[in-house]
Amino acid sequence: MSDGRNADVLRSIPSVSALLGSLEVRQAAGSIVAEAVTYVVRDEQHRYRSALLAGADGDVQNLIEAIVARLSALQSPAPRVVINGTGVIVQTNLGRAPVSAATASAMADAASAYVALETELASGRRGGRGRAVSELMRLLTGAERTLVVNNNAAAVLLMLAALAFDREVVVSRGEAVEIGGGFRVPDVLRQSGARLVEVGTTNRTYERDFADAITDDTAALLRVHASNFEIVGFTASPSHADLAALARQRGVLLLEDAGSGCLLDTEPFGLAHEPTLAESLAAGVDIVCASGDKLLGGPQAGLILGKAELVEAIARHPLARAVRSDKATLAGIAATLQHYVRGEALREIPVWRSISMPLDDLERRVSSWASALGGLAHVEKTAALIGGGALPGQRLPSRALVLDAQRDVESLAESLRLSPMPVVSRIVGDKVAIDGRTVLPQQDDQLLATLRAAIG
Ligand SMILES: *Cc1c(COP(=O)(O)O)cnc(C)c1O
Repeated sequence: MSDGRNADVLRSIPSVSALLGSLEVRQAAGSIVAEAVTYVVRDEQHRYRSALLAGADGDVQNLIEAIVARLSALQSPAPRVVINGTGVIVQTNLGRAPVSAATASAMADAASAYVALETELASGRRGGRGRAVSELMRLLTGAERTLVVNNNAAAVLLMLAALAFDREVVVSRGEAVEIGGGFRVPDVLRQSGARLVEVGTTNRTYERDFADAITDDTAALLRVHASNFEIVGFTASPSHADLAALARQRGVLLLEDAGSGCLLDTEPFGLAHEPTLAESLAAGVDIVCASGDKLLGGPQAGLILGKAELVEAIARHPLARAVRSDKATLAGIAATLQHYVRGEALREIPVWRSISMPLDDLERRVSSWASALGGLAHVEKTAALIGGGALPGQRLPSRALVLDAQRDVESLAESLRLSPMPVVSRIVGDKVAIDGRTVLPQQDDQLLATLRAAIG
């Protein structure tokens, strides 16, 4: 590029003060403080200059649009609320479980006011953090005590650090797994200070493998939910009850990372049996850990439940303070558990409403979207997934709205994601589709408005 052209290019770039004075920038700036607006304008002007010098075509309107987009992002809720059309119910990239309306409002109430978090209202004395959750969990699972921490990864780390530091923990080779997102059982064990002893083979592990591995240095046997993969075919693993009997007889603990934290029977919905927290504890597991935001259907949290004296020892460990949950999470977990206590979990908890939504209702709902779009879309049979590491490989029959637009699939999916109410779709065949099972009931109108704008 010649110096002459460079000079022309640079002269064509509007000054910072000209950009700040433009009507579009002033409107987008709203009440953002002046320094921040100037920063954004300078930054975008700088990028624009670099792009031009690198040979890009100049268009001042593009520069202004980039500034306006950044200024409006500064004032929008983040992360953005989206419509989940993927058919994956506990979708990690989309924030896992949406909570119930009652849970959201309990969390907002707790967050925006003082609460009796560690004050006994009857006596005025200090104490009682998390007591309500413990009481609810006792009713629902038989656990003597429950401790709530930041997430399940923290729960497992804390449990092992408190109960097995500098001692051995025996794990089946088929369960020394990576769950995803950096959670690998061997690494977590090492970080806790415990020593991993792997037994059995990838596909078959017997009770005697565990029995042979127990030494004077063994603190615990650990079970880990296989979560997001399945070993099928020629497999074997001992039952919880067999391992519990072995652990008792040899004076070691039986610990479990249950993953999803299921409280309800999954079989009525055509799914395989997902072990519940109550079943683990009834079978004799001493401590079980689970996530709050998978099948439990609450906010992000880790739950540590089981024998009172063990949970109390875990709660006294210095790491417990580092990973404890805040008042809004405690309020959210309590409100979520209250749905189970009232027997209304299927109706009120979004994850369970999705799982239990009858196929006929789904068919009617997705058909009504297709008619509202008048010939631009049709209904197809699909399969939804639970996701979040629960029930790997299990599919729920579902219905999707398939868009018949004569448009490139990638660009249509992108324009749905970039809509004012972003829609995250899936590809069915070679078409863009919205799985009805994961679209929340209150989002129907917004979904239709977005689709009309994208394909109409
Ligand atoms: C999801 C999962 C974890 C991690 O839980 P977070 O709540 O994401 O920290 C750990 N173990 C198992 C078996 C899981 O399924």
